[in-house]
Amino acid sequence: MSSIPDSELWHPSWCDPEHCTAGQLASYHKNAPTTVGGHRLFDLKVTVQLWQDADEPDTTAVATVVVTFDNSHLVPSIHAFDLEADVLRDLVDALMPLRMILDARGRAR
Ligand SMILES: [Zn+2]
Repeated sequence: MSSIPDSELWHPSWCDPEHCTAGQLASYHKNAPTTVGGHRLFDLKVTVQLWQDADEPDTTAVATVVVTFDNSHLVPSIHAFDLEADVLRDLVDALMPLRMILDARGRAR
């Protein structure tokens, strides 16, 4: 099975053709995964990717956030959460103050 998405299909702007599986049996638009951490041996590496059902015409509907935790010496732990788009937006908004706190702590050192 080819991993190249069907070019006749509409894809959201955030969809990465390299990861998209629209038109295939498991038909999902996917962004390029983002990975943080894992710079040193046994460091926890966290990868986050957004999936959306490509057969669902409502682009504001549920999105799946796939989070993979990998500390390089155990089998990676993969978690998928189905979230309404507005809940996902609220989650991102809720995390922004944490970023400001961490940035302030970094400057205080
Ligand atoms: Zn796509």
